[in-house]
Amino acid sequence: MSRVYNFSAGPSMLAESVLQKAADQMLDYEGSGQSVMEMSHRSKVYQSIIDSAEALLRSVMAIPDNYKVLFLQGGASTQFAMVPLNLMNGSGKADYIITGQWANKAYKEAARYGAARVAASSQDKTYTYIPKTTRADFDPEADYVHICLNNTIYGTKYPELPDTGDVPLVADISSCILSEPIDVSRFALLYAGAQKNVAPAGLTIVIVREDMLGHARDITPTMLNYVTHAENGSMFNTPPCYNIYICKLVLEWIQNEIGGLPAMKKINEKKAGLLYDFLDNSKLFKGTVEKDSRSLMNIPFVTGNEELDAKFVKEAAAAGFVNLKGHRTVGGMRASVYNAMPVEGVEKLVAFMAAFEKENG
Ligand SMILES: *Cc1c(COP(=O)(O)O)cnc(C)c1O
Repeated sequence: MSRVYNFSAGPSMLAESVLQKAADQMLDYEGSGQSVMEMSHRSKVYQSIIDSAEALLRSVMAIPDNYKVLFLQGGASTQFAMVPLNLMNGSGKADYIITGQWANKAYKEAARYGAARVAASSQDKTYTYIPKTTRADFDPEADYVHICLNNTIYGTKYPELPDTGDVPLVADISSCILSEPIDVSRFALLYAGAQKNVAPAGLTIVIVREDMLGHARDITPTMLNYVTHAENGSMFNTPPCYNIYICKLVLEWIQNEIGGLPAMKKINEKKAGLLYDFLDNSKLFKGTVEKDSRSLMNIPFVTGNEELDAKFVKEAAAAGFVNLKGHRTVGGMRASVYNAMPVEGVEKLVAFMAAFEKENG
């Protein structure tokens, strides 16, 4: 068996021990005589899976008791509508910081439901930095401020959270969830599509402070109301059962094999550091993001020559480093080094880049 190093922005790698465990339990989950894929979501055995997934997420992320954890479907993109439908209900105003395409999509969707406003943007420099803000940049009457904490396409991450005063902070954490500790209490709501750091595509995680619930607009579809899912333990309808099971295995891996999020962060800093150090010293490759805004998870870089970029992507793929092509709107390369990418994968990539530079520099 030969597995590649997959640098895809998502769906992305899962830890080998997680895949192995899923394989071992495929035909018979813990003596139930069935695969988790086949179980009734109303069965006792499945209830114990979703309960452990939630308990593990609460413990790994240190989620305070006054927050609900919801396991939903629809991807992060559905949250672009759910957030305004449920939260844009006081003044009907919300502030958005535009740090890339996902943040912009969230803003555009919110603008369909109320007075969404751009409070800050880094579009002027193709989203290569996180704009600095002060409390004065935000409308104190806004129902919430929305940010995208890690910008998957451009490779930026907030070096610190914006000070929004009393305005609730909402964040898309699709591409940085579980990558390092996060102070959940700073946020009114967090959401993430699972396919980057948590599970296969098809599961969406929402972590929402209880006082934010119960104010959805009348027109909100039942399935898009957080209360529907909060009151039914994410079982109003059939949840994405198998994905929640893989989420549980990934959380067990982080807790038991990695040693929790502080240890995960150290490993991620080591991986990102290897690549950034190489880029900072290379004469051929260079990173595209301002240093203080660099992401731990998504690392874009270029040679400055499109033909050479294409040659690099092709030769890297042939050598077992796949999905290094940059986002179609940005060009160049991007290495996504999510939790499941081993340190060894980045070490080998850097060695490959050094050899490529020698031949082509
Ligand atoms: C991938 C991604 C999305 C889109 O997620 P879907 O689950 O495909 O809707 C949104 N925001 C961020 C930050 C992402 O990385």
